[in-house]
Amino acid sequence: MDAAGIGGQARSSSLIRNYLGFARGVSGSRLAEQAYDQAAALGANFVFMHRATTLARSDAGFALSLADGRTIHARVVILATGASYRRLEIPGLDELIGAGVFYGGPVSEAPMLAGKEVFVVGGGNSAGQAALHLARYARHVTILIRSRSLATGMSYYLVQAIGAAPRIAVRTATEVVGGGGGAHLEQLVLRDTATGKDDTVPADALFVLIGARPLTGWLPTGLARDRDGFLLTGADIGGGWPLQRPPFPAETSVPRIFGAGDVRSGSVKRVAAAVGEGATAVQAVHRVLAEDEPAATLAGI
Ligand SMILES: Cc1cc2nc3c(=O)[nH]c(=O)nc-3n(C[C@H](O)[C@H](O)[C@H](O)COP(=O)(O)OP(=O)(O)OC[C@H]3O[C@@H](n4cnc5c(N)ncnc54)[C@H](O)[C@@H]3O)c2cc1C
Repeated sequence: MDAAGIGGQARSSSLIRNYLGFARGVSGSRLAEQAYDQAAALGANFVFMHRATTLARSDAGFALSLADGRTIHARVVILATGASYRRLEIPGLDELIGAGVFYGGPVSEAPMLAGKEVFVVGGGNSAGQAALHLARYARHVTILIRSRSLATGMSYYLVQAIGAAPRIAVRTATEVVGGGGGAHLEQLVLRDTATGKDDTVPADALFVLIGARPLTGWLPTGLARDRDGFLLTGADIGGGWPLQRPPFPAETSVPRIFGAGDVRSGSVKRVAAAVGEGATAVQAVHRVLAEDEPAATLAGI
């Protein structure tokens, strides 16, 4: 079931270059359409344009209410509701997503940026970690922040590490206001927010890390989350697990509710990772259904 059409966030990527099997990359919409065809051929049913609004316990196991008033009953639920990234909303750059402009951390892109001029937008810990990782490969990394100091939003240890990294510079009181290129990112337009002066700089890659929030607000409070609202799963759940058996790696704090992909705390936030986590969750679903634990033992929500 999906509140929108097929493809999730991946559909907004013009070129996914890090998904296995596509040497020259694949557009997010083509990948989504092929995935849809494959799943349909294997017997999956789809319900598009329907938003789930509540998840509660029912005699069958769980009841999912939809925005149109319908209810779906299920013995097991996999939550793969993803995350929503804050976007720069700059047309010239949005056209280059996947071609030098990236949302999320540089998991697989970093080694390909050897000798390149790289920028990271954002002043949080994820931006700091990304910059340090990128600096192992790139010629030079510039962190762009709107505030006057990195310390405003980043942990002390990261601020120290960045200060000691010879290939990382921090540009404070700066925002990205433009940029573009041909088939790939070539330049950025940066504005000094104190003077209002714009500066066009050559750029090979831009990583945008200005905030992501998981789409978990509609879920019951009994499902454990991290402090940013992402679902805790497996060994990360901590106390309060109600069964004798341990949780499966993709299982949430409520037995038989699984989390996969970007919505999961600690997930890699990449298509390949989301697909793999889905496969892991499905294997566990087969196991819990085969074991047929009595509903009475399933505490939680
Ligand atoms: C602009 C952009 C470019 C990217 N480029 C790349 C790339 O090049 N390579 C790469 O590997 N990754 C890329 N990513 C990341 C990648 O798209 C995600 O990691 C991946 O899509 C995560 O898949 P998911 O299924 O976990 O979540 P999502 O793709 O977010 O899908 C979640 C789905 O759940 C639906 N949903 C949410 N709440 C509800 C609800 N209450 N009821 C019903 N449905 C709901 C949403 O409509 C959405 O379709 C990019 C992301 C963005 C935003």
